[in-house]
Amino acid sequence: MSRRRGYVFVISSPSGGGKTTVVDRLRRTTRKLARSISVTTRVPRQGEHDGEEYRFVTPAAFARLRRTGRLLEWARVHGACYGTPKQPLIRTLAQGRDVLLNIDVQGARQVRRALGKRAVLIFLLPPSMKRLRQRLIQRRTETAAALRQRLTAARREIACAAWYDYRVVNDRLEQAVTDVKQIIHQHRQELEPTGRRRRPIGTRAGRTA
Ligand code: ADP
Ligand code: 5GP
Repeated sequence: MSRRRGYVFVISSPSGGGKTTVVDRLRRTTRKLARSISVTTRVPRQGEHDGEEYRFVTPAAFARLRRTGRLLEWARVHGACYGTPKQPLIRTLAQGRDVLLNIDVQGARQVRRALGKRAVLIFLLPPSMKRLRQRLIQRRTETAAALRQRLTAARREIACAAWYDYRVVNDRLEQAVTDVKQIIHQHRQELEPTGRRRRPIGTRAGRTA
């Protein structure tokens, strides 16, 4: 039986940067890439169902999960709490499967602290602030106030791209998906079947795909 332990590939971007779109594509086209279903206190959007996009919980239930150490990381984002359940993720990694996390910059920092270089941090950059704004408007999920809030937060979040392992510009979708796939492929290649690395992983730091 293989002793390989999986990687956690963290994808972050400002709201509207394309995380959901890119993650959906990757999951459909990359083998052995599991997803994690986050818990959140945010109310479901139209068409969202409990246990699919998120597990929707009350603030009290979220606080209990946090207090009892059931979350690998958690953060307050745009006024709601979001967190990654710890146990399912640890189990998936132990089975040798990689996990894709679509989480914000605060969560990415905590995942790095918890898992070290077992976590690979990838930041999706929009081609420009103007295009980011256009994409958010086209998505039609935000009120005018929420749109302003998300664009203000975007500038702060983009500054965090500097400490991610990789930065990928999401201009043409196909190219962005290919770039992220290459990063995943490269990391999988770095593991021997026993789970030991062939070469130090620190060499990748600061790269732009
Ligand atoms: P996020 O999950 O980061 O908030 P989404 O994946 O919802 O972002 O993308 C925001 C909007 O931009 C969606 O309507 C999506 O279809 C669109 N979009 C994402 N990537 C691209 C791209 N490369 N080119 C054009 N539109 C895109
Ligand atoms: P949305 O409400 O638009 O689905 O997500 C809002 C933000 O919350 C996005 O930046 C998304 O990446 C982030 N997010 C979703 N799940 C989690 C999570 O489990 N932890 C953290 N830290 N952020 C999350």
